[in-house]
Amino acid sequence: MKDPVCGAQVDEKSASATSSYQGQKYAFCGTDCKQKFDRNPQRYASASHGSQQQTQGTHQGERANR
Ligand SMILES: [Zn+2]
Repeated sequence: MKDPVCGAQVDEKSASATSSYQGQKYAFCGTDCKQKFDRNPQRYASASHGSQQQTQGTHQGERANR
């Protein structure tokens, strides 16, 4: 399984952090990546589905407030 945040290969069973979003499970190399994902799951989740249609009206530019 691929860590959607940093792209590292993570074994789901030995992952230090996992999360699920929209019925799909995600594994992370560490809690850092999980927190990033949890903060903005749609950004990382949609990155793995190339063919997902984009909702209109959503703000595209992410605010770099952190
Ligand atoms: Zn990671």
